[in-house]
Amino acid sequence: MKNILFYKYVDIEDSEQLKEEQFNLSKSLNLLGTILVANEGINGCLSGNEKDLEEYKKILMKNKRFSDIKFKEGPANKHTFKRLHVRVRDEIVSSNFDINVKNAAPYIEPKQLKQLLDNNGGIILLDSRNKYEVNIGKFKNAIHLDLDTFKQFSLKINQLKNNNKDDNNKKIHNNKNEINKKLLKNKKIILYCTGGVRCEKASAFLIENGFNNVFQLHGGILSYGNECGNTHWEGKCFVFDTRGAVDIDPNSQSEPITQCVLCNLPNADLHNCALTTCDKFFTACEDCFKVLKECCSKRCRGEINI
Ligand SMILES: [Zn+2]
Ligand SMILES: [Zn+2]
Repeated sequence: MKNILFYKYVDIEDSEQLKEEQFNLSKSLNLLGTILVANEGINGCLSGNEKDLEEYKKILMKNKRFSDIKFKEGPANKHTFKRLHVRVRDEIVSSNFDINVKNAAPYIEPKQLKQLLDNNGGIILLDSRNKYEVNIGKFKNAIHLDLDTFKQFSLKINQLKNNNKDDNNKKIHNNKNEINKKLLKNKKIILYCTGGVRCEKASAFLIENGFNNVFQLHGGILSYGNECGNTHWEGKCFVFDTRGAVDIDPNSQSEPITQCVLCNLPNADLHNCALTTCDKFFTACEDCFKVLKECCSKRCRGEINI
């Protein structure tokens, strides 16, 4: 079994028809996962047998619009999704900001990024993912915007301090220093996310807003891990499937940077709080997970018993 991710921003006029085709194709190959189709492109993540996924890739790439699509792959010992969904949406990544994705930043290849980081290259690594993803693992020294959802990206950039006289609340989070927008605009910024689909939009937003030295990591964290291993990375990589968090290097395990919520031992087994009104992501070891009745805290466990 395997897990694949892919996206392509390209004008699609026949979303409904493409949706039907994609559903029938995926179903016939026993694939599970989610494929989003919009006028702006396609975005998918699927799991299945290696042979079936190869067949899927071959057929998708036969479609001229997708002939150069890049696949990110990861090992899986079973299906990493529970169902198959193929949906037509307004956007393939909900962004809440109006940009032309054709203005996206140029790519930087994983190996180039590794080289820059090896040489301590005077760059700003900006993580465009949500904070619950960043908490599980990220590039060392990367900064992030404390996002609850990607829809906040433009808002958080606009909130960055324009000069040092502003109040302290609107800072970019790098755990050490706050960085103001003016300074950031002159720095070489390299954006990254899991597979790259968010950074196309995030980088276009930065460029359309006067940041002039922006790049995006081609293929995201997953491509970096496959090509460069886990050097310069800490923790695990949050993934939106049943695996929860994975090692970015398929051949080497990284130490968790998170702890079990109950026993505090290093742990990166991700769960969703069983109390639906909480629904928080948390990490817990197997034993504590049982003790907590699949909740994120004793408090939630107490409420679920009522
Ligand atoms: Zn524990
Ligand atoms: Zn909870």
